[in-house]
Amino acid sequence: MDFTIPENYRMMAETVRKFVERELEPISQKVEEEDKIPEEVVQKMRELGLFGLSIPEEYGGLGLGVLGECLVYEELSKTNACFRTRIGTNNGIGSQGIVIDGTEEQKRKYLPKIASGEWTACFALTEPEAGSDAAAIRTRAELKGDHWVINGRKHFITNGDIADVATVFAVTDPEKRARGGITAFIVERTFPGYHVGTIEKKMGLRGSHTAELIFEDCIVPKENVIGGDAMIGQGFKTAMKVLDRGRLTMGACAVGAAQKLLDLSVRYAKQRVQFGRPIAEFQAIQFMLADMATQIYAARQMLYHAAWLRDTTGAPVTKEAAMVKLFCTEMVNRVADMAVQIHGGMGYMKDYPIERFYRDVRLMRIYEGTSEIQRLVIARQLLREYE
Ligand SMILES: Cc1cc2nc3c(=O)[nH]c(=O)nc-3n(C[C@H](O)[C@H](O)[C@H](O)COP(=O)(O)OP(=O)(O)OC[C@H]3O[C@@H](n4cnc5c(N)ncnc54)[C@H](O)[C@@H]3O)c2cc1C
Repeated sequence: MDFTIPENYRMMAETVRKFVERELEPISQKVEEEDKIPEEVVQKMRELGLFGLSIPEEYGGLGLGVLGECLVYEELSKTNACFRTRIGTNNGIGSQGIVIDGTEEQKRKYLPKIASGEWTACFALTEPEAGSDAAAIRTRAELKGDHWVINGRKHFITNGDIADVATVFAVTDPEKRARGGITAFIVERTFPGYHVGTIEKKMGLRGSHTAELIFEDCIVPKENVIGGDAMIGQGFKTAMKVLDRGRLTMGACAVGAAQKLLDLSVRYAKQRVQFGRPIAEFQAIQFMLADMATQIYAARQMLYHAAWLRDTTGAPVTKEAAMVKLFCTEMVNRVADMAVQIHGGMGYMKDYPIERFYRDVRLMRIYEGTSEIQRLVIARQLLREYE
């Protein structure tokens, strides 16, 4: 086993670590209060190449492998989660449909704008009646002459309010649905019939918006089916491939946030004095710190291994990715709970970041596939292996 992290990945992660410390962390509470990332900070993120981490170099991105992207996400997740979410859709769910299954022409047309951050991309699968059961989507696309007409409503779409382009999943054959009847489209915000609906009010992740997207006789050119005519009806498979990759990077966000919570907790435990001594001297506190560190260590190893496996074999690593998402996101929730406990009343106060992390990490067990859905994916694969 070779655990060496490539030099270019280490350097990129180090650059991002400094950027987080110098530029993002000092404004993290302000962004929380104002629910908005300042445009000049977004511009700095563009200059660092953060919008194109995963996009191949030939289309203007940095072309990092999954491991490289995970290392960057780990660093970015040590501050307000909205910063990672701002670049997350461009690197992940918003671009990967095109990267994985797009035609050469689609890649040339869209990826450079997404990689540079000139455009924001989003992923529109979920609907009010179709969450975990994504195959139950109702949004309909019908071919009329040389264009498709899309009608339907998506909700909970990350960056939906600011996106310039969306990967939209719609039913093209109601009989076949997930088995050849769902198609993925590239839909630009300026296409007629594309509307942004309500911006949803969330428990956390302030600074990042989640919105409804409404399609009313939305006109989409024929050539905007991801992958072209041959991929009509194959959109569900595209969605699953995109989500597979995202599960690994979500694991990295969990590990980064957990590490930050541990760092804050150790420092606090060493300086907070009760009964005449730092609380770090109490075994009850030490045990929580030890459990946090151990769980982070385990999560990080499985994350790096699965990312390395995917980078070196090119295989989808579906089971491992689901395990990573499940374990790492559940781990960070346990760690956040212990962090609140170690901080006592301070952990519950808004002046301090612990409370924000506690709310923000809760989402990780829900989006891009809930913990229950990850367990289903793992179990299905496992049972197949024993056939
Ligand atoms: C802040 C936020 C951002 C999001 N961003 C996006 C985005 O950018 N694009 C997008 O398309 N979607 C997005 N989503 C949607 C997200 O992926 C869904 O919320 C998630 O998949 C769960 O769907 P649901 O909310 O409808 O819950 P449901 O599917 O209704 O689930 C409710 C509960 O039932 C459980 N459950 C459901 N089915 C089963 C089963 N078969 N076995 C056991 N338990 C089950 C679930 O695990 C959960 O506990 C976002 C959601 C949030 C909250």
